[in-house]
Amino acid sequence: MTKAKGLIIPVTPFQQNCTLLWCDATNRAVVIDPGGDLPDIERAIAQAKVAVEKIWLTHGHVDHVAGAAEVKARLNVPIEGPHRDDLFLLHHVVESARSFGMQDGANVTPDRWLEDGDQVDVGELKFDVRHCPGHSPGSVAFLNAAQRLAIVGDVLFAGSVGRTDLPGGDQRQLLRSIRDKLLPLADDVAVISGHGPTTTIGRERATNPFLQQAAAIPR
Ligand SMILES: [Zn+2]
Ligand SMILES: [Zn+2]
Repeated sequence: MTKAKGLIIPVTPFQQNCTLLWCDATNRAVVIDPGGDLPDIERAIAQAKVAVEKIWLTHGHVDHVAGAAEVKARLNVPIEGPHRDDLFLLHHVVESARSFGMQDGANVTPDRWLEDGDQVDVGELKFDVRHCPGHSPGSVAFLNAAQRLAIVGDVLFAGSVGRTDLPGGDQRQLLRSIRDKLLPLADDVAVISGHGPTTTIGRERATNPFLQQAAAIPR
């Protein structure tokens, strides 16, 4: 079976997990959330010896997107995601980057907005898109059941969940997104989060207090 392979590259002062993900049958790759530190991302691409064909964005926060326009320009590849409800963030990357003392942020307009139920692909790998609002209104997760892999941005972390005190954040909505879109996944699904270590759905189901809170929300 074709396998997904990946390298996680922590970028920006926020140590955001930019992920280089590729299909081992074709060596075609996607750069997920290129928030900045482009030389580090380019080094990973060279090291992996892959051909990048796309950029995917999980959501519009500056630490995830500030380098996206430049990666697109350098590699001449399209940007897919997030959901269009994060447009207000993507069009204020410059101010936002400046306010955090980050260099070289650029506003970005995706080539393709993503909706819940959409599919995206890289090489021979297909990922299902889940709209998971709450951390930001337009957050999406990328799921591949066959590969046992979920890339969730800042929706879910090892032992925690995304903050909801930023513009457009909503904690109840975040917990509902987790309950409806992530908790149904199998225990052995690996989770790559926007910050911090990789985990699994099973480990979070068993130990993450926010997930227990999410499961308990009345329908
Ligand atoms: Zn975020
Ligand atoms: Zn983040």
